[in-house]
Amino acid sequence: MPSSISSAPLLPELVTTTDEFDRITRACLPDFLDRATGHIRRFLRETGQWSDDGGHEKLALRWGYELVEQFLIYGRAAVPCRPTLFLDSLIARHLSQPDPLCHHKDLATPLGGFLHGLANRATVSRDALMALFFHWYGWNQGHIIRVLGLGLPESQRVYKNFDRWRQSGWERAMLGTGLTSEELQSLDSRRRRQGAQLNAESVPLLRLIQSHYRKSEPAHYPCLDRTQWISLYEEDCGYDYRAWHLPLCHECVSVVYALRQPETLPSGALMLDVQIHPPAGGRVLTLGPTPRNESRGDSHEHRSPRERLSSTTH
Ligand SMILES: [Zn+2]
Repeated sequence: MPSSISSAPLLPELVTTTDEFDRITRACLPDFLDRATGHIRRFLRETGQWSDDGGHEKLALRWGYELVEQFLIYGRAAVPCRPTLFLDSLIARHLSQPDPLCHHKDLATPLGGFLHGLANRATVSRDALMALFFHWYGWNQGHIIRVLGLGLPESQRVYKNFDRWRQSGWERAMLGTGLTSEELQSLDSRRRRQGAQLNAESVPLLRLIQSHYRKSEPAHYPCLDRTQWISLYEEDCGYDYRAWHLPLCHECVSVVYALRQPETLPSGALMLDVQIHPPAGGRVLTLGPTPRNESRGDSHEHRSPRERLSSTTH
């Protein structure tokens, strides 16, 4: 094909319905992506952060993809709108933020891209949000339920989150990172051979990524100290707080982990145990009997004083 641009449908001036927005964005997705990637390349050049190599091309593509994803969400909500102008203004706003995350060179590595892709997906998907606990720390559903102190309805949601993540969520998130299956495979084989090193490399990346994404939280979701976390659990409130803040805050989740540590996990401080692929195996969605030493969050009276930091069902 001589030129993909000449054969593409023209981007419309004005879109007046969401159906039309969906149709146009589907048909013109490669054009929107080209446009976004072009903006990023120019931004990197103008800020002296560009080199003509595959790594930078990939970074521009990954970043452009991320912006187009936001455009699909926010643009749809902004109908009637002029999609091209909307995309341009969204990118301009993004690049004018004091510290746009994506031009950080460390995130151009497969590991950085992988960790970043997961967190990015978690901003729009609860399945991805819950899966962060698995990918950062290797927790299963029971561990999450225990640490977050969830009641029965919320616990069942976690099982569903994992199920959907396993079936399609992980794959969709990985498509968004621009990583190839070879790169993912190679990360996974590093995890098996040199897990400790991979985890150590992930620590600063995670700190960078998490602090960026927490900025998008509402102002009333700041970090809490140990006493505040204890009372939040004792008062059996703030389920959303736990679910949104903890996957994206290693400091706070470390505090809560020390207080509610599942006994089936290694004792001591919370350590990263990065997982590349989604959790294996299908699980029945309804909760079975609570595994030994793990809580469903709905019966805890028998626990030790340390474990009293827990919630009950409503
Ligand atoms: Zn925090």
